[in-house]
Amino acid sequence: MSETREFKTEVQQLLQLMIHSLYSNRDIFLRELVANAADALDKARFESLTDPASAREWKIVITPDKENKTLTISDNGIGMTREDVVENIGTIAQSGTKAFLKMLEEKGENNSDIPELIGQFGVGFYSAFMVASSVDLITKRGDNPAVCWSSTGEGSYELSEADRTEIGTQIVLHLKEDAEIYLENWKISEIVHRYSDFIAYPVVMPEKKIDDDKNETVEERTLNSQKAIWLRKPSEITDDEYKSFYAHLSNFGGTEYLKAIHMTAEGASEFKALLFLPKQAPFNLLMPDIQKKGLQLYIKRMFITDECKELLPDYLRFVCGVVDSSDLPLNVSREILQQNPLLGKIQTAVTGKVLSELKKLLENDRENYEKFFVEFGRIIKEGLHTDRANAEKLKDLVLYESMNSPEGKRITLKEYVDAMPESQKDIFYITGDKREAVASSPALEYFRSKGWDVLFMTDPIDEWVMQSMYQYAQKYFKSVVKGDFEDKELEDKVKSAQEKYAPVAEFMKKVLDDKVSEVRFSGRLTDSPCCLIVDGQALSPHMERLFRAMNQDVPVSKRILELNGDHPVISALSEKLAANADEAELTRYAKLLYDQALLLEGSPLTDPAAFAKEVVTLLGSVLK
Ligand code: ADP
Repeated sequence: MSETREFKTEVQQLLQLMIHSLYSNRDIFLRELVANAADALDKARFESLTDPASAREWKIVITPDKENKTLTISDNGIGMTREDVVENIGTIAQSGTKAFLKMLEEKGENNSDIPELIGQFGVGFYSAFMVASSVDLITKRGDNPAVCWSSTGEGSYELSEADRTEIGTQIVLHLKEDAEIYLENWKISEIVHRYSDFIAYPVVMPEKKIDDDKNETVEERTLNSQKAIWLRKPSEITDDEYKSFYAHLSNFGGTEYLKAIHMTAEGASEFKALLFLPKQAPFNLLMPDIQKKGLQLYIKRMFITDECKELLPDYLRFVCGVVDSSDLPLNVSREILQQNPLLGKIQTAVTGKVLSELKKLLENDRENYEKFFVEFGRIIKEGLHTDRANAEKLKDLVLYESMNSPEGKRITLKEYVDAMPESQKDIFYITGDKREAVASSPALEYFRSKGWDVLFMTDPIDEWVMQSMYQYAQKYFKSVVKGDFEDKELEDKVKSAQEKYAPVAEFMKKVLDDKVSEVRFSGRLTDSPCCLIVDGQALSPHMERLFRAMNQDVPVSKRILELNGDHPVISALSEKLAANADEAELTRYAKLLYDQALLLEGSPLTDPAAFAKEVVTLLGSVLK
């Protein structure tokens, strides 16, 4: 029974792109199809663990046919049922495809790196249409009837019965005229060698040979070495081999990585690992449903799963790679395997290795480390909160901008502490949305006058992280906008201001009673008349704003208003009060002072229009 079906809209869009765009590198279609075949073999081989009768000589065969201008890629892997085909090839239910198309839309003209991105989104099969004017896929799974899927990629596809008896999948590409180079043996073997050398199954090509009696025979030539790259000596692996392996397994696409990490663990748990630190964060780093998480797990070279989350803590989810263990049991289900305590031991070892490699990178290649940190720092910071065992190591890996360092330059906590003058006892920080916002905070004035640096924490995650970062190098972290501020040297000064201007503080408190919990003098300010301070345990204003942005109900915590006894505005207010000036007028001034303090801490005004009007009125009276 034959039927014609329409492609889903997204697939059509994607196909248009494949058919009509001219990519610089069309070779990757073969990489994608061989990778799919290898995945299908992985699945079948995994099934054969519990059903030994189904074991067969696993392989992938690539057959060019110059006469018919077809290139056929076949595997004896898991195969697909009719439903599988409709689901996998006709629809792509995966959210990845939609995300891919969305990204293309956003990128617009500038889409030169698309080939590298294709594999990333699970749209690999469609890349066949870069070189083929039509594609037939014949497949059989288990005892189900074989099925044939054909399409020219123009909106619809045909499904019909097929007479294949062998389990597995065969993909026949009817090559476009300009793609006939892919019929050449040398071209095929070059591509396989380049992109698929490490595939764990033989990728073979039938080749005609003339034997001694001048008879034509066909022999299969194996094109790939099948050497598991992670089992080889690092010194014997070329850059290209690393790159193509990275492209094969990276969650993010692309061949560029920052660092390859080889690991051989012996003793309690024996395993080998090859891990990669990526260079760039994928645009979907924060979209967990798209992003595959976890490392690939092999047991004695046998592929088990490519999403083993137990091998890495969540905050290292940008690392990709392979772990090959010789201790884990082979003949159990994935679910049971995932509860094996050995995985936890491997995780500990792998985490330690990644952190020490990052430290080395920080020490030896600061420039690249900083670039890396800009991409992945916010994810690493999650570890400060979630991985207590490694918290101290992680503290050495985080970078922050600071008041005393130029914009864009980041320093380590160690550099901060090393630069602390003797008079400074604590590590000071301020949280906020961005550098400009925190850099102008009046709360910094005192620290500036002392020459003490203040860390700028402008990542949304920083505030959350700081809840568990109490100390570094035996120094406490203190927020500059929090109330517990003491300076013995300034005590007398503050005390005398408190006495001299007591009526000002009283009056301000009366006017702002519903907004502030206390009005007091402090030595914290040099240039500004007043600033708002958060009481001990209360949420910082930045955190409050974050919660509100997430639509969470947070109680409005009253701030402490701190006044600067040295500021002319305060003395002027004091004089006016003493002279019994118009109370309505003074009330307006008090509110104005409060509003500008709110603005400086980055908080919104409840009534910006009233504030603006007040400022204009004031200007009017000055300019009169
Ligand atoms: P991806 O391989 O990234 O999931 P593809 O578009 O390349 O995306 O393939 C879609 C799906 O089709 C695969 O996930 C797999 O289920 C199925 N598939 C593709 N090629 C084969 C094959 N040779 N054998 C069995 N299933 C396949």
